[in-house]
Amino acid sequence: MTKNNASDFDAIVIGAGPAGTTVASLLAEAGRRVALVEKEPIGSYKVGESLIPFCWYPLQRLGLVEALDESGFVVPKNSVQFAGIDGKVSRPYYFFDHTEHPCAKTWQVVRKDFDQLMLDNALAKGVQFFAETEVKAFLKNAGGGVSGVRCTNPEGEEHELQAPVTIDASGREAFSQTRNGWRVPDEKLRKLAIWTYYEGALRDEGVDEGTTTIAYLPEKGWFWYIPLPNDRVSIGVVAEKEYLFKRSNTIQEIFEREVGVQEWIQKRLEPGRRVEDFRITSDFSYRSRHCAAEGLVLVGDAFSFLDPVFSSGVYFALMSGVMAADAVEAALQAGDYSASRFEDYGTAFRQQMEPMRRLVHAFYDEDFNFGEFLRRYPDFRSDLTDCLIGHLDRDYSPFFEAVGQFADVPEPLPHGGPQL
Ligand SMILES: Cc1cc2nc3c(=O)[nH]c(=O)nc-3n(C[C@H](O)[C@H](O)[C@H](O)COP(=O)(O)OP(=O)(O)OC[C@H]3O[C@@H](n4cnc5c(N)ncnc54)[C@H](O)[C@@H]3O)c2cc1C
Repeated sequence: MTKNNASDFDAIVIGAGPAGTTVASLLAEAGRRVALVEKEPIGSYKVGESLIPFCWYPLQRLGLVEALDESGFVVPKNSVQFAGIDGKVSRPYYFFDHTEHPCAKTWQVVRKDFDQLMLDNALAKGVQFFAETEVKAFLKNAGGGVSGVRCTNPEGEEHELQAPVTIDASGREAFSQTRNGWRVPDEKLRKLAIWTYYEGALRDEGVDEGTTTIAYLPEKGWFWYIPLPNDRVSIGVVAEKEYLFKRSNTIQEIFEREVGVQEWIQKRLEPGRRVEDFRITSDFSYRSRHCAAEGLVLVGDAFSFLDPVFSSGVYFALMSGVMAADAVEAALQAGDYSASRFEDYGTAFRQQMEPMRRLVHAFYDEDFNFGEFLRRYPDFRSDLTDCLIGHLDRDYSPFFEAVGQFADVPEPLPHGGPQL
């Protein structure tokens, strides 16, 4: 086993998804020595292709907005629309009707290329990348704080990396949660998703080319329809397991049955052909009991994941990556890596997640319907749009009081602070 010296790095980042590359890039930019460790080969598949407008702010801080605009792996996304079970589709909700800020134009992205752009940016800022290297365990100091990681390189050799702070950006594999028993599922959001890719399916043109469509199914199930470059469409169905598996057993049967139920989706897919196997995942909403411990900070999905209905995952990964980088930089400057250092980080992250989480719960509530809500409370249209575009750092109390007249709006989750 090889061992790096204690002074080799200021920070170690586990995972090169958007959360990990954001923290790594910003710390390196601040002059820190950063190790970024990723177990999967470069270019591996990732889900999470639809960005929301407020992704613009972290991407701007990373200096990547222009690069994204000029890249060949995005489709500009200007709006979201909803298709009813009867096949009728709403007018698109254009982000530019809500704000004149450049964030109003966001992107649908091919994730492997997006992640590569983020990684290249980190490397350009001097991050040391450990490719195809899997973190297997935390190293601990005498007081029990995290002082680095033990990992295995592509040749299967073990080595240790040491640093005063480790950032867990391991995504839904959630390294710290699994090791420490910190995973707490969001019980009401135990859904299952099945998805695949089509080519040659119908797409809109011009300003509507990159519109995300959420198409409703019975019993609060829904499809996503996300246009990607090169005539590809990402298409997925999300619902309760019991609903999806009640009459069909194979994934293909379930998918085709549900396409048959949703007229708008059926018409869109008719001229196309499926070009990839089906993928499946379930029970994906959770929050970690803790956001940090001594020498350890959790970011992105490694801390918390929310049902993908409003495409918020990459935003939370980027936003928490920025906030964690600032908190870690302050800890490095102070030479204090105690869990309490990360209290404000955890509070700010959770405060941003809560409005989106409440909206997701309302979406799945049997008694809630956006159309009806807005007919009764037209003045709240702007708050609803604000929440959907990711403007989460504000007070939504009056809005959720009104939503609460239609739906069961949950209290904020009590857990997620640092392990003090
Ligand atoms: C069905 C579904 C649909 C979704 N759709 C959308 C969408 O449309 N829009 C959106 O914004 N989000 C969407 N998401 C969410 C989005 O995929 C995630 O929120 C986002 O990728 C989180 O980024 P991250 O950096 O936290 O984690 P990830 O992108 O998952 O990156 C984590 C990285 O850590 C690496 N890793 C894990 N363990 C280790 C280890 N032990 N050692 C080394 N490396 C390790 C992994 O290989 C991975 O590369 C969707 C999610 C699901 C499940």
